[in-house]
Amino acid sequence: MAQISRRNFLKMGAGLGTLGLMGLPSLSFGAAAKVVVIGGGSGGATAARYIKRYDPSVEVTLIERNETYYTCYMSNEVLAGERTMEQISFGYDGLRKVGVNVVIDEVTKVDPAAKKVTTSKGEFAYDRLIVSPGTDLKWDAIEGYTEEASKEIPHAWKAGEQTKILRAQLEAMADGGVVVITAPANPFRCPPGPYERASLIAQYLKEKKPKSKIIILDAKPNFAKQDLFMQGWEKLYGYKTDNSLISWKGLEDQANATKIDVATRTVTTEFGDTVKADVLNVIPAQKAGKLAFDIGLTSDAGWCPVDFKTFESTIHKDIYVIGDACIAGAMPKSGYSANSQGKTAAAAVVASLRSIELPETSHINTCYSLVGKSYGISVAGVYQVGKTEDGKTSIISVKDSGGVSAKDGDEGVRATEAAYAQGWYKNITQEIFG
Ligand SMILES: Cc1cc2nc3c(=O)[nH]c(=O)nc-3n(C[C@H](O)[C@H](O)[C@H](O)COP(=O)(O)OP(=O)(O)OC[C@H]3O[C@@H](n4cnc5c(N)ncnc54)[C@H](O)[C@@H]3O)c2cc1C
Repeated sequence: MAQISRRNFLKMGAGLGTLGLMGLPSLSFGAAAKVVVIGGGSGGATAARYIKRYDPSVEVTLIERNETYYTCYMSNEVLAGERTMEQISFGYDGLRKVGVNVVIDEVTKVDPAAKKVTTSKGEFAYDRLIVSPGTDLKWDAIEGYTEEASKEIPHAWKAGEQTKILRAQLEAMADGGVVVITAPANPFRCPPGPYERASLIAQYLKEKKPKSKIIILDAKPNFAKQDLFMQGWEKLYGYKTDNSLISWKGLEDQANATKIDVATRTVTTEFGDTVKADVLNVIPAQKAGKLAFDIGLTSDAGWCPVDFKTFESTIHKDIYVIGDACIAGAMPKSGYSANSQGKTAAAAVVASLRSIELPETSHINTCYSLVGKSYGISVAGVYQVGKTEDGKTSIISVKDSGGVSAKDGDEGVRATEAAYAQGWYKNITQEIFG
């Protein structure tokens, strides 16, 4: 392996954006450093892989509680019967092949002072720690909606068993049934996700149970890609007609779900209206994954503040937080964002281990949503560290970059975006899990 001098690293680094970081050559500087990554999802698995790529001499241990990871992305297609659970499942052999030590176990404790991670299998010392625990649901957000209740009233906001429960309920529902989806206020994992879910459930019902209805009860006045979703719903599901398959009620309709009665599958909204469902999908408000709280990485807002350039925690030195759990300014909580942040954190860790300054960074995110068969829409963004309108340093959208799909896109455009969505899924899962 070619040795690369510190000066050349800096020269190469100048002006590297995310794409540049992906091309960062392997570095080998001598003594093995230890990096532990907790969470083998979109953020953590990417970071583990990229540390190995940037510096194969680093000992990388990835600790993940589950043998199999089910992607939330494309889990809405499983609900529509368009994809199997197997087709959204991934293991860790690809990471093992590139030299990552994969430990399947639950992390029970992290001691930032002693730089030690504890699991039932033992202790793991680290020089740098990357944490990507994802989100947890706020079980106290909606009266009556507990973790126990989610076995009957699924959230399906973590893919796996929950996805299976919701799919089975949709299959068992009689034609003419009512599906109710409650959507949370911002910020939450995957802003367009509840609306893609409604769309793909509608696609399934339109074909198999056309007398059925979907009602979305939203805690927000508006939502991601709203115009494009609604345009698609008009074209595909009769939206705005008396016979619409989907109806959406936002904050002005006081549709914020405040109480759930599990036995009758009834939702009570903010001002006392009740809506009874045959299939009830409750997506509650969210916060950083429990582990982030246990380590003391969270702020009062329930998410983890980080240095916007490196993703190092502003609370604990040498611990980096990426993915949904971190506060990343304008970047949405998405798998693509977590993947982009994983690469940056990997480069930041390698740079820090070698006492090298990390070059300027930038990020990309595209969220594709499927509205129906051969009907895709997207929102894309490019991000970098900068000043917000009120003068605060954050990760901001690069001016005049990105945007949403054209409103006047014809069927060909929508079909192309649906194909891009499938291509994106193939690429990102290949890149993360190998
Ligand atoms: C329905 C739906 C659709 C979506 N669609 C898209 C999409 O189209 N595009 C997109 O970009 N994003 C999408 N997302 C969002 C995406 O899934 C998340 O933003 C992304 O997975 C976040 O990555 P993460 O690494 O932060 O968390 P995760 O991917 O959830 O990974 C966290 C991992 O940490 C592990 N873990 C947590 N605590 C511990 C512990 N104590 N010990 C060991 N392991 C632990 C968990 O088991 C988990 O595997 C969607 C989400 C949903 C719900």
